[in-house]
Amino acid sequence: MGQQLYFDNYSPVGDIIVIAISMVMIILVATSYVNKTKNFNLFLNMIFYLVAASMCDMIHHVLYTNVDDGNYTAVYVVRVIYHAVLFSILLLFIVYIVELQHLETHRKVPIMIIASLIYLTVIITDIVTTVMGTGFRLNKNGTSVSGINIFMFGYIAFVVEISYLMIAYRDRIYKKIMNGFYGTMFVSFLVLFAQGRHGQSSFTVATFLFPVIGMFYLIHSTSYDIESGAVNVMAMQDLIKYNYNKKKDFLFMSLYLPDYDAEGKVLPAALQSTIRRFASEFFKMAVLFQISNGHVILVAPKNLNPDHENRLNKILNQFHIEYDKFQMDYKVIIGESIEEISRKNEYVSFISNIHRKMELNSVYIVGIDDVDEFNKYEYILEELTDIYKKHDLNDTRVLAYCQPVFNIETGRYDTAEALMRLKLPDIGMVFPDQFIPIAEEHGFIHVLTEIILKKTCDEIKYLMDEGYDVNRISVNVSVMELRDEEFTSDIDKIIEESSIPNEKIAVEITESRNDSDFLLMKNKIEELKDRGIKLYLDDFGTGYSNMERIMELPFDIIKFDRSLVLASDSDERSEKMVKSLAGMFSELNYSVLYEGIENDGDEKRCINMSASYLQGYKYSRPIPIIELNKFFTKLPDVQK
Ligand code: C2E
Ligand code: CA
Ligand code: CA
Repeated sequence: MGQQLYFDNYSPVGDIIVIAISMVMIILVATSYVNKTKNFNLFLNMIFYLVAASMCDMIHHVLYTNVDDGNYTAVYVVRVIYHAVLFSILLLFIVYIVELQHLETHRKVPIMIIASLIYLTVIITDIVTTVMGTGFRLNKNGTSVSGINIFMFGYIAFVVEISYLMIAYRDRIYKKIMNGFYGTMFVSFLVLFAQGRHGQSSFTVATFLFPVIGMFYLIHSTSYDIESGAVNVMAMQDLIKYNYNKKKDFLFMSLYLPDYDAEGKVLPAALQSTIRRFASEFFKMAVLFQISNGHVILVAPKNLNPDHENRLNKILNQFHIEYDKFQMDYKVIIGESIEEISRKNEYVSFISNIHRKMELNSVYIVGIDDVDEFNKYEYILEELTDIYKKHDLNDTRVLAYCQPVFNIETGRYDTAEALMRLKLPDIGMVFPDQFIPIAEEHGFIHVLTEIILKKTCDEIKYLMDEGYDVNRISVNVSVMELRDEEFTSDIDKIIEESSIPNEKIAVEITESRNDSDFLLMKNKIEELKDRGIKLYLDDFGTGYSNMERIMELPFDIIKFDRSLVLASDSDERSEKMVKSLAGMFSELNYSVLYEGIENDGDEKRCINMSASYLQGYKYSRPIPIIELNKFFTKLPDVQK
């Protein structure tokens, strides 16, 4: 038998190894957290094709060995399928790289057309030449009579195209990852070369496996936090996108621990292990995401957890038991996937928006109203961002309202408090509780203050020019604005540009509990004071007032919050307390202003408790600032 048999050196070991490694990859992928991207699907498909290719390779050799009548048709058919599968892997590899590089359509399309042409040419030629007998052929005795080896041409064409892609657009991918790909491909060529030298074909499929292993390790390997088993926000966004595209519903449970939600804070180990246990005990296939140090979200597929509603009570009971143990403040939110939020992939900000209105240590079940509210929130944020960017002090979306304040000494309305409203195109009037916290959170509050100050100054100017008696108008300022170096000069500039005297403006500041804020406040208050601007301490009685500190700050007026007005009406002890506090302030030369005077009773009591100023619905609700002339008095001597 001097004639060379067809691949008599073939052994199935190479294909068995490919199938085994593919299985191992599938096991690892199923048990680790993998970002569910489009590329991940391609990767899974490639594994599937690798297994299929190895099977075909083995089958076609088994068939070949078992032919004894010289009819090799079945061998030819399986061989063509085998080639088609191998080339499908190459085609998928090109799609994978193109996706990874985020190529633009005009670059992507020609590359895909060329790849498809190579693919079709190879498969069609393979089929045609095999059928016509001009391609791969075996003699009756099993000796190969090779015709055109289309496989080799196709393979080289694909390698050229892949190399072009990976070199021309190498900058689109992180360099180290690219190097990982080059490395695995180099090993593939070495193996291909080595097996050729030994007249082997057992390892052909294995050479297709190496770059796939590269993908697995470089791109789809696990991103668990080894400590808690949680994965990060980006991974959560991937999962949501995946579920949204596949129309898969999921459940989510968010745990927020405000005390730990700061840079550098770490959850105690015992708590971490409790969270880890929670994550796996109640839901099947749940994934835990670490959003920030004090915020985790558990996401679980709905179809695998059909009895989730029954479990909810169990979970909450268990949660309360744990709470008794740890005693730390929390906010828990529970809900199901919502199409709109999934589409925008905005669960994290959706949940933060709910946090804002939640009481500490409560559990909240998400409802459809929350989506409307969130949309409103997003709209307000968008408008605020625009107001901030435009920085137009005459922005018509920011309205200056004001509430006249009754001056007991003069018996007139000669001061007022400016209060902000927004008037937005789509939703109309928006009240401070709905936008001040958002503006503060995003650093937009100072621009709003500037706009209100500008509009207030304009009104003061107008009233003065018209001969009204304007004592002053106060403007609210957030503590965080004081952190800005430019704060005082910004305020200064606006007042100066409206050419009104500084003492016509007062600034209202709420006490802060923060130590570092105190020094800041002291500095800034002194700066304002030096310029003749008056200062009010706002909302006295709502926080934990530190009297010693208040005395250190040169306020002109202390605004007693409505809660103190109400307290003074509840029982004698409280009345005495409010009265003596007010008495003390007025003896120390502060003026006392009572806020929230709603009726004659409030008024009478407060006048009796060292009041200098009274403000509240009894006198007027907040009105547009241009209507202030209805309350202020024209001085006869200035009238012309
Ligand atoms: P605040 O500074 O304590 O303002 C007084 C709030 O009490 C106003 O609510 C006012 O409408 C309301 N009020 C007035 N009289 C009565 C009354 O007799 N009874 C009751 N129950 N309430 C009364 P508004 O305008 O909704 O403002 C709410 C808060 O928003 C303000 O509380 C202030 O903290 C903030 N805010 C308003 N405008 C501005 C601003 O221009 N800048 C900043 N930083 N904050 C502002
Ligand atoms: Ca105020
Ligand atoms: Ca107040």
